[in-house]
Amino acid sequence: MISAQLRDAKVVVDLAALKHNFRTQLAQLPAGSQILPVVKANAYGNGLVPVVNALKDEPAVGGFCVALLDEGLALRAAGVNQLTLVLGITPVQYAPVAARAGISLTVGDVAWLKAYLQLAQASQLTTPLKVHLGIDTGMGRIGFTDPAALQEAVALLADPHFEFEGLFTHFATADSADDQYFKAQVAKWQAMLAVVKEKPRYVHAANSATALWHSDQVAVNYVRMGISLYGCNPSGRELTPTWSLQPVTALEARLTFVKQLKKGASVSYGATYTAPTDEWVGTVPVGYADGYPRSLSGGSVLINGQRCPILGRICMDQFMVRLPQALPVGTKVVLIGKSGDAEITATDLADRLGTINYEVLTGLSDRLAREYRE
Ligand SMILES: *Cc1c(COP(=O)(O)O)cnc(C)c1O
Repeated sequence: MISAQLRDAKVVVDLAALKHNFRTQLAQLPAGSQILPVVKANAYGNGLVPVVNALKDEPAVGGFCVALLDEGLALRAAGVNQLTLVLGITPVQYAPVAARAGISLTVGDVAWLKAYLQLAQASQLTTPLKVHLGIDTGMGRIGFTDPAALQEAVALLADPHFEFEGLFTHFATADSADDQYFKAQVAKWQAMLAVVKEKPRYVHAANSATALWHSDQVAVNYVRMGISLYGCNPSGRELTPTWSLQPVTALEARLTFVKQLKKGASVSYGATYTAPTDEWVGTVPVGYADGYPRSLSGGSVLINGQRCPILGRICMDQFMVRLPQALPVGTKVVLIGKSGDAEITATDLADRLGTINYEVLTGLSDRLAREYRE
């Protein structure tokens, strides 16, 4: 998609807030801990390369996690040579690309390892593939559930085509006040770990929520930190972060058109809104194609610290808001972020949409240019 530069709408990424979130959270972790920032999905919509460049020289960054091999290759292309772990399953036929680039892959079953060995032998690959074994302790997504299979995998990893680098699990309910399921996952994790006599260098279990709320229950010396780096609460509103998180991502625009709507005139597709009285209306050049969903119709934006209701339906590229008075074209509009004393967070939009702040951030489309503040 084209990243549009010649328009008054952009995502503003606060790299100082990103670093603040990194450092304040690191300060709460046990001494010597390392953070593996999770930068999948374009660093949660904030821009992969600028986010990685802002963090990569922090001494406690042990490497980066991505979801896809292509994302890992983008890090290598940007000159990042630290540990780069692909958290999803990579189809075996693409794995030689990872081996050559020194990118670590997640493996969740024995069959994958056997298929890779065949491929590596046939193609005379000499660079060993770095492997992290994924352990499914209750997430039910990917990974080993059976101790015997895990043992077999560890034995296969002794082959010189592999480098056994890591072992990890992922918690399904670390963001919930009820920690019963979490505790059961910890017990399973410990049982699975016991099967592996010689531990690899990276043994990691914590996501943001685990580091925030369960550091007493499971080792958090390596944290795969995602959403909290970007200043959002992983639990939405259920649990309160024990340290301060600063929002990193703002969505800003400027009014492109201002008019007085006469009483009885309607606004937008379906003419669902009709002015009850003469009123001032501004047009905001953002729409659902930018990742500002149509179901936010009925919501509001901030202008000069005041809340301005959205009128009628959100279109693909534009929507209309009620203004407190006539305002000039070019007046700043905040869709996510602060304006005066008022604020709209990604979590506020998520609540209105019936989703989570993660989906709001990652939904901001490539059409919106990203601007970086230090
Ligand atoms: C996405 C992801 C994370 C990061 O989770 P946050 O809740 O954003 O901290 C960590 N681990 C795995 C396996 C993931 O898929």
